[in-house]
Amino acid sequence: MYRCVKCKKMITKVGDKIRCPYCGFRIFIKLRPKVVKKVQAR
Ligand SMILES: [Zn+2]
Repeated sequence: MYRCVKCKKMITKVGDKIRCPYCGFRIFIKLRPKVVKKVQAR
């Protein structure tokens, strides 16, 4: 997942070239999806 620096919309990376479909900006912040670990309590 990436976030556009300009309009701060979430964009899923498609291929090698990514461009914001909303504003056309090409600088993104790389986001790591939150991994929710399920821990079962016994
Ligand atoms: Zn944008």
